[in-house]
Amino acid sequence: MLPTLLWSNTEGLTIRCSLCSHECLIKNGNKGICKARINKDGQLVSVLTDVVSSIQMDPVEKKPLFHFLPGTKTFSVGSVGCNFHCTFCQNNHISNIPQTGVINGRKANARTLLDLAQKQNAKSIAFTYNEPTLSVELIQETAERAKAYQLPVILVSNGYMSRACIDLLRHSIHAINVDIKSFSDAFYREYCGAKLAPVLDAVQYIRDCGWWLEITTLVIPSVNDSPEELKQCARFIHDVLGPDVPWHVTAFHGAHKMANHPSTTSDQLQTAWRIGKEAGLNYVYMGNLASPVGGNTYCPSCKALVVERTPWKILFPPHGHCPKCGTPIPGVWR
Ligand code: SF4
Repeated sequence: MLPTLLWSNTEGLTIRCSLCSHECLIKNGNKGICKARINKDGQLVSVLTDVVSSIQMDPVEKKPLFHFLPGTKTFSVGSVGCNFHCTFCQNNHISNIPQTGVINGRKANARTLLDLAQKQNAKSIAFTYNEPTLSVELIQETAERAKAYQLPVILVSNGYMSRACIDLLRHSIHAINVDIKSFSDAFYREYCGAKLAPVLDAVQYIRDCGWWLEITTLVIPSVNDSPEELKQCARFIHDVLGPDVPWHVTAFHGAHKMANHPSTTSDQLQTAWRIGKEAGLNYVYMGNLASPVGGNTYCPSCKALVVERTPWKILFPPHGHCPKCGTPIPGVWR
C-alpha cells in the first residue's frame, strides 16, 4: 500500500479524501466508497497506486476520441476499481475488484509504462478501462515524465474527480473523454451510486482547463433514452461546453447486473444522434453499432466529408480543415 495525494486529516485520525466528489470521511482502519483508499493510522494509503490490470495498444478512436491524433495508436493502461457502482458496467471484471478485497494485477510504475509505450511506438498514453483517477499518483508521475518523451496523456473517465484532482493534473493531461451517463440525478443515484451535478461541474472545469474534451453517453433503452433527457444532455453540451465538443452516443449491450436488458437498436441510436444534431452540435457520433455514416466527421459549414471512419480504421487522412471549403475542424490533428 502506497501513500496518496489529495486528503486531509479532520478530527484525530479521521481523514477527508478529496480525490473525488464522494469526499469520503474515513475513520481509522476504514476504506472509502471505492475501497481503494484506506485510512491507516491517520494516513491515507492506496491499494492501487502501482497496480495495472491491462496494458495494450488501442486505436485512439476506441477511447473514443475522434478529434485527437486520429488514426494513431495509444498505449492504454488500466488498473482496477471504481468510485461508481454502475449496474450496467461493461468492465465489471476489473472495476469491482477492490470491492471484493482481492487485488490482482501486476505492478508497474511510471518509468516502466513509458519505456513500454516507447518500445511500441505509441503516439500517446491513455489511462482507461477502469476509473483512472483512482490512480492519480501514478498518472501524475507518468504524465510529468511523459513530457520528456513528448508523449501526450489521455484520460477516459466518469467525470467524478474533484476540482483539486483536475488542478493536480491540469498541466500534464492533453485529452479526455468523459461519460455523461444520463441527464437525470435519479439515474446517477440509482444506477451508479453517484450524483449528476459533480459530473457537470467537472466537465465545465475541464473545458476551461484546455484539455481536448469529448463526451460519451451510453444509450440504455427505457432507462436513459427518453427524448427529453437526451435533449437536455445535448443542450448542456451545446450551451455550456460548446457546439464543437464531440458527443458520442453509444449502444448498450447487456452487461453485469443488466446482462438481460435489451440492447440499443439502430433506430434508438439514430434518434439520439438526431437529437444531438438538432441541438446544434457540430460533431455527433454513433458507437458500438455498425453504421455507415455514424462515425464520420462532416464539415459543419458545407457538409463535406472530412474524415471517414470504419470501426477503428481511418479511411482517409484527417485534415485540420475541411478539404472543400477550408473551415477549421477543431481538435488536435497532429
Ligand atoms: S477516491 Fe472518492 S470514493 Fe475513494 S475514498 Fe476518495 S472520495 Fe471516497
